[in-house]
Amino acid sequence: MLNILVIGNGQCGNRILDSINRHAMGGGKNCNRLAKFYSKQRFKSHVETLAFNTAVNDLKEMKFTKARDRVHIPHLHGVGANRNVGKQVFEENKEMIMRQVEERGNFDIAFVLTSASGGTGSSFTPLLIREMKNRYDYPVYCVVVLPFREEGTLYLQNSAFSIRDIRQSGVDGIILADNQYLKNIGGSIQEAYNGINDMIAERLLFLLDALDSEMMMVTDLGDFKTVMSGGAGLATIGFFKADKDMPIKTTIQNSLSPSGLLFSTNVYEEASRAMIVIKGDRKYLSIDEISTEIEKLSGAVGHVFKGIVVRDGEYPQILSLLTLESAHELEKLYNVAVQAIHYEKAKKQRVEEGVEMKRTFSQIEGMEPEY
Ligand code: GDP
Repeated sequence: MLNILVIGNGQCGNRILDSINRHAMGGGKNCNRLAKFYSKQRFKSHVETLAFNTAVNDLKEMKFTKARDRVHIPHLHGVGANRNVGKQVFEENKEMIMRQVEERGNFDIAFVLTSASGGTGSSFTPLLIREMKNRYDYPVYCVVVLPFREEGTLYLQNSAFSIRDIRQSGVDGIILADNQYLKNIGGSIQEAYNGINDMIAERLLFLLDALDSEMMMVTDLGDFKTVMSGGAGLATIGFFKADKDMPIKTTIQNSLSPSGLLFSTNVYEEASRAMIVIKGDRKYLSIDEISTEIEKLSGAVGHVFKGIVVRDGEYPQILSLLTLESAHELEKLYNVAVQAIHYEKAKKQRVEEGVEMKRTFSQIEGMEPEY
């Protein structure tokens, strides 16, 4: 049995964590809210969850996460997307935060969930991971959500710096999910968020379940670590659920295609290592077809670990974990972030010099009111 810690920082991290708790308790959309009072999880791993936030309302919004797992770090009303303030608040509360982590015990693996672009999650996460890596031996992976590109200059520049900070924190790997790429889920913004959060939660739970299952062909935590240590320290996850008539090779292909992935990448060009986990009834799992498809992938990316979990009566579901050698989409995000930084800098300079305001007030220079 694996001991797993999942931490959600800031609003986005909290919400994905809440979705994980809903799914872990067997909940579909109509999951009984009272389920949180029964700590019976659907998964055999021992999973502890923790949510940190400076905004108490974000914590209150969580429905499926126990009260003792929701930790408020007091700072008026959040940190207002300012990462310098966020970092300072973390430092001021570091021992209290680390005590919470410490009290949960020891783990085989930890995940930290955050948006790259907000204030609290994006500034707490690198500092928290650094502390965890200094104090504990277990690997820590970070799931980072990238912003919609039209969300504004502050979010763009936060993303660029926070991803860099997370990479430098000693993290064992970063899994990217991109709101911009997933936004075609549609509906209102809240529905899109919920849909994206559910996608991330389901994939992570599938992964954890697979790492802790009796398999016909085995992938385990060691394989996961090896995959995650490949490439440039960045990864993403694909997923696809077949319906009854779909050949297994198409299901695998779909898990690697744009509709299955959490981040825009051409797997065959950018991936560096992969792990494919196949779950379903034996009768749908043609080993020949699976081998052909996996060989095609390993021909392009190098090494592919594969695992098969037999689940009687279930249509196949495939999870693909891919570390990336390069990430064209991330490079594009950094390009727009650099423009955003220049824009903010020029604006600040103009304001400091008071050019606009001087012009405004200069209009009445030397004048007096006439009555
Ligand atoms: P923080 O609370 O200060 O860490 O800030 P947020 O987590 O709200 O960060 C803002 C970013 O997170 C924006 O890019 C939002 O689009 C994104 N975001 C906020 N809530 C959610 C959510 O529930 N799901 C997803 N996928 N993204 C979110």
